[in-house]
Amino acid sequence: MVDSRNIQMVDLKGQYRKMQKDIDAAVLEVVRSAAFINGPAVKSFQSNLASYLNVAEVIPCGNGTDALQIALMALNLQPGDEVIVPSFTYVATAEVIALLRLTPVMVDVDPDTFNITAEIMEAAITPKTKAVVPVNLFGQSCDMEPIMKIADKHGLYVIEDNAQAIGSDYTFSNGSVQKSGTIGHIGCTSFYPSKNLGAYGDGGAIYTNDRELGAKIRMYANHGQQKRYYHETIGVNSRLDSIQAAILDIKLKRLDEYAAARNEAADHYDQAFEDIEGLVTPVRASNASHVFHQYTLRVTNGKRDALQAYLKEHGIPSIVYYPVPLYRQNAYKNYVEAGFSWPITEELCQTVLSLPMHSELDLETLQYISGKVLSFFH
Ligand SMILES: *Cc1c(COP(=O)(O)O)cnc(C)c1O
Repeated sequence: MVDSRNIQMVDLKGQYRKMQKDIDAAVLEVVRSAAFINGPAVKSFQSNLASYLNVAEVIPCGNGTDALQIALMALNLQPGDEVIVPSFTYVATAEVIALLRLTPVMVDVDPDTFNITAEIMEAAITPKTKAVVPVNLFGQSCDMEPIMKIADKHGLYVIEDNAQAIGSDYTFSNGSVQKSGTIGHIGCTSFYPSKNLGAYGDGGAIYTNDRELGAKIRMYANHGQQKRYYHETIGVNSRLDSIQAAILDIKLKRLDEYAAARNEAADHYDQAFEDIEGLVTPVRASNASHVFHQYTLRVTNGKRDALQAYLKEHGIPSIVYYPVPLYRQNAYKNYVEAGFSWPITEELCQTVLSLPMHSELDLETLQYISGKVLSFFH
């Protein structure tokens, strides 16, 4: 029996309905102004995002993949230089490295947080290593303090892939708090519609506290020019358009509310599943707040696919993020020896399952979803 309530992984229509007036007016204003590219809405969003993140420079761009590529371009790396990335991530993280003729070095991740750690990263460093791209997966920052220490020791650049964790906080051992993505030398974000801060189309941003690096990034994102028609270097064309910026400016004001709603949903799931054998709920790091881009279970009794099929029968969508380790993807298998594998990454690809998670989940829907998970196990 398929339930009629039309449960979705992400409910963008429901979210829109709650701010329809504001969004419609903002979009109309851009349309009427005809300032479609680099209009006042882009400047406003850029400066509001910089204040929210407490970061010196925000450079908006076309999408999260572009953000990662442009960040790497600005570092003057040479073909063959090695860049450390997790094996358990979205493909974009490694794709841009390979596109720039750099060598992705795919490492394992921590079984609890799904993120890379300083130890894992340090073990992969060679004389060719120039940078590392920690991914703040599913909404939680990597443990950045030790990562930055190791990076400093070895002179490595750190580019945070913060596409899934915008708005989350990281607390240092001295008690100071910083937004995820602002701790490495460069942070990259995606505004893909289903991300925590999602546009109504594509968008992305790069941020840094290093003003010199910020100026370079801006140049690379804009055809390698600082002065119009004078090209210092070969760049790309990657822009956030004004309509998207106007929408994002409205949603940025609600980002913390969205994170709170996601945390409430996560708390509900956590409580419902706490005593189920064969099911591990997401581990929350003690020094990072979670913004639950995904609520990702580990189904450790071998029944992940059966659970997914059971939920589907009852009208509940769920997704396996990610089913295949990067190093086993056809496109990336040439970077490793035949038969290469990492134990944690392999296990996660076999066991993870992400449940519906968004800012509009009501108690009734949550109870229906958690009830079906429980009835599968009992
Ligand atoms: C979404 C995402 C990206 C890419 O963002 P796009 O805007 O789709 O290009 C990169 N890395 C991670 C971890 C992502 O989740």
